Amino acid sequence: MRVDFNVPFDSEGNISDSTRIEAALPTIRHLVEQGAKVILASHLGRPRGEKNQKFSLKPVAAELARKLGLPVIFLEGCIGPEVESAVRGIHNGSVVLLENLRFHSGEEKNDPEFCRSLAQIPEIYANDAFGAAHRAHASVSGLPVLMEEKVAGFLMERELDYLGGKTEKPERPFVVILGGAKVSDKIGVIDALLDKADSIMIGGAMAYTFHLAQGFEVGSSLCESDKVEIAQKALDSAKAKGIRFLLPVDHLIAEKLDFGAGSTGEMRVVEGNFPEGWSGVDIGPKTIELYKQEISRARTILWNGPMGIFEMEACRDGTFSIARAIGDNVESVSIIGGGDSVKAINLGGFADKVSFISTGGGASLEFLEGKLLPGVAALG
Ligand code: AMP
Repeated sequence: MRVDFNVPFDSEGNISDSTRIEAALPTIRHLVEQGAKVILASHLGRPRGEKNQKFSLKPVAAELARKLGLPVIFLEGCIGPEVESAVRGIHNGSVVLLENLRFHSGEEKNDPEFCRSLAQIPEIYANDAFGAAHRAHASVSGLPVLMEEKVAGFLMERELDYLGGKTEKPERPFVVILGGAKVSDKIGVIDALLDKADSIMIGGAMAYTFHLAQGFEVGSSLCESDKVEIAQKALDSAKAKGIRFLLPVDHLIAEKLDFGAGSTGEMRVVEGNFPEGWSGVDIGPKTIELYKQEISRARTILWNGPMGIFEMEACRDGTFSIARAIGDNVESVSIIGGGDSVKAINLGGFADKVSFISTGGGASLEFLEGKLLPGVAALG
């Protein structure tokens, strides 16, 4: 089973967030209960095709064993005769974790020889690694093609159901909140959702490109001045389609933003033009109220991307207020579309108030853009 155990580590080498391990537990437990030999394979970090202990999955095996309450056998390889014979030798119902797939360059290259070697090990292929499904890598794309029996795990199934099914035929109103750093990263999602959503609300640094498109000054804000045309096109298209496309009506700005030092200098709320040298850091209070109202009426909510620099306490009011408003709308199906909005939801303590939190950052964005992900296509 391909899993996404690409977990973050702190400076002391401890796993700092085991969400991805926890997300795979239901499928692993189910397979163990069915008496399968569960052979787990994952990547971790970017070892660039070479063995490097810094990227070993061994600590993940220990953490998985703790979470599962079962022993996990760790093998120091992922292909070859030793791995094959070790797998043959274990009992049904055991759990095995193979070493990092990316210790072999064939993984990222989707090398046919590496795919054939991987295919020697299992009888059935399962993919529960939604977070890696947008990569046409060997374990995600080439291997399943060689396998007769292939299935999606429970996590993969849930991801496809929420990000796909529930936004394809949403209960209305379907309200989308998009934020984050760049318009260029999210324009594909905006375009795709213009055909599905009833309202789209924009926040984060992305909003400043739209602000520019409307003819305002944005000071020293993070902004893509070469993407103004794209932003304008999205605005025109929303108008033509009769979608409510909401931009911030006010902004929190900082005089001396220093992200590294975590300081902002003087802060102000402005509408219209930003003074020279000042940077937008969050949506303003009127915008928060406007977006909250829209969210409270929604029956389906999709959120991707923070409303401001939520990593800094002085700039997280917008993001946290949106997270709280989503959690408060208990009537709705609420979907948090991966990446930094998940961090914000966890940081604010709102995780158990939403319907679904995607484990895929890049994968969820590509899926929402309407792209067929290689890992999904390969399950046929
Ligand atoms: P993304 O990965 O595109 O979802 O962007 C997330 C990042 O956007 C976070 O690290 C935020 O700090 C950053 N961000 C959001 N709003 C702003 C802003 N107003 N200025 C600078 N960065 C921002």
